[in-house]
Amino acid sequence: MKNRIFNFNAGPATLPLEVLMEAQAELLNYQQTGMSILETSHRSKPYEAINAEAEANMKELLGLGENYRVLFLQGGASTQFAMIPMNFLTAGQTADYVVTGTWAEKALKEAKLVGNTHVAATTAEGNHNRIPKMDEIQLSDNPAYVHITSNNTIFGTQWKEFPNVGKVPLIADMSSDILNRPFNAENFAMIYAGAQKNLGPAGVTVVIMRKELLENTPKTIPTMMRYDIHAKNDSLYNTPPVFSVYMLNLVLRWLKAQGGLSAIGKHNEEKAALIYDTMDQSGGFYRGHAQLDSRSLMNVNFRLPTEELEKTFAKEAEQAGFIGLKGHRSVGGLRASMYNAMTIEGCLALKEFMIEFKNKKG
Ligand code: PMP
Repeated sequence: MKNRIFNFNAGPATLPLEVLMEAQAELLNYQQTGMSILETSHRSKPYEAINAEAEANMKELLGLGENYRVLFLQGGASTQFAMIPMNFLTAGQTADYVVTGTWAEKALKEAKLVGNTHVAATTAEGNHNRIPKMDEIQLSDNPAYVHITSNNTIFGTQWKEFPNVGKVPLIADMSSDILNRPFNAENFAMIYAGAQKNLGPAGVTVVIMRKELLENTPKTIPTMMRYDIHAKNDSLYNTPPVFSVYMLNLVLRWLKAQGGLSAIGKHNEEKAALIYDTMDQSGGFYRGHAQLDSRSLMNVNFRLPTEELEKTFAKEAEQAGFIGLKGHRSVGGLRASMYNAMTIEGCLALKEFMIEFKNKKG
């Protein structure tokens, strides 16, 4: 499609064109109901089918069985920062956090409001340019859970291998890399993600949880904060974001049709290599923020020799049909976010733009 630009925004982000077209085609009359899905009751057969299929698709893609639930909640990943300690951090216990960036810090901040916390490792000293080594992670005695951020959207770092914390529940904020490649989801007690990067539009937050975690939810916290209530009601305790869940399900179907996690993993490796190789072969013109072994497949951060050049790069890139490349203020420079739906074509075009820009200004 000619008038679509290359969208490198960190989220909300680009969605598969096929999915957008499918939604467009059935927008006015969803499956012969004579109305749009936007107008459909959440207590209707068509929506119940979407809700159930989305849960099943998510579990299938992650290879999870009967012992897991998938919930579709609201309030973004930021609400999960609070719900996790409210549900799982009981008096006298400690929750462990691995602090690898701004979002991990925010998760920790909320937990501190609820109970005792312990920083099991932090990468703050290098402005979060890496993922800690396994032997740097020092757990407290018998923590209630260990929380990690699988991909650090702002700093462009990503865990390649996940820590083994034995029987302690491992919880991951996967907002910016959920379903980006194969991994063993069963090692996690809980995974959560705002949808607006790899899963669909904003408005729905996916929570994937081992069922046994639902057994001891405190009855003293507000109802909407209780995971067990949402699970018992199949995410229909209150009105869910019907359209967002519908879109998310279309994205999950799309991902299955692409060949699932192993196929998308290869696709993402190939895309990331196009940009990282361009940086590495630029003779120092493009410098990455992340250390080599911690580089993210999803968010590629790079600096140019001067801030002036960075501004010019962002401006000229926009004129050339690329948006969202300006980096986050805490790192500076540029950032190309290339989630599952970003095409090889988009990354090839960006690579060419980077080479041309360097030849002109370098
Ligand atoms: N965690 C991570 C890793 C993120 O990238 C973001 C958003 N950029 C958040 C949490 C916050 O998500 P939300 O805006 O959905 O609350």
